Amino acid sequence: LVRLVGEARTDKLTGLLNRRGFEERASVELAHARRERGSIAVVSFDVDYFKRVNDEWGHETGDEVLARVGTILSTGTRDVDVVARFGGEEFTVLLPGSDVADADAFTQRIRRELAATDGSGLPAVRVSAGITAAVAPPDFEPLLHRADSALYAAKRGGRNRTVTAESPDASLMSALRPR
Ligand code: GH3
Ligand code: MG
Ligand code: MG
Repeated sequence: LVRLVGEARTDKLTGLLNRRGFEERASVELAHARRERGSIAVVSFDVDYFKRVNDEWGHETGDEVLARVGTILSTGTRDVDVVARFGGEEFTVLLPGSDVADADAFTQRIRRELAATDGSGLPAVRVSAGITAAVAPPDFEPLLHRADSALYAAKRGGRNRTVTAESPDASLMSALRPR
């Protein structure tokens, strides 16, 4: 039973959480951030031109590349971070205690590792990323939506880049700040 429960929340190919597993962990972390008035960041990643990896190297190598992305994301994060494969070549990471600057540093590090060839013989990949963050967010969906919009903007802007979505509470703060 424990194994079945785990499987319902895990992505087989990468061993990461799936969307359902992600949402469960995320709601726990959000509740914690609200209690502590803590910041929480979300990064959405999508592999650039992944279809070409499948076309040029075959679907099996494509699978191995996705597994490698999963490994780099899980070894490059802390235990409190929540890492998931949302399906296809899209990955989402929740970083409790992080603001947009922390998330940007994290994303740069991941981007560097993914773009490096590591002796595995697998092709390196580039990613587009969307970042957002909020202090004590009431709901998860708006955060995810903002990260996705930023990711979409990164794709439109030419890929292999990160876009940060302005968070509503940040603009509110700057509007309230005396000048
Ligand atoms: P973009 O830069 O716009 O993201 O281009 P892309 O080629 O990465 O995106 P697109 O959505 O056109 O193609 C995604 C590809 O990912 C197509 C699909 O066959 C492949 N894919 C999705 N899931 C898997 C998987 O589990 N294994 C493998 N090998 N390929 C997958
Ligand atoms: Mg893609
Ligand atoms: Mg995609």
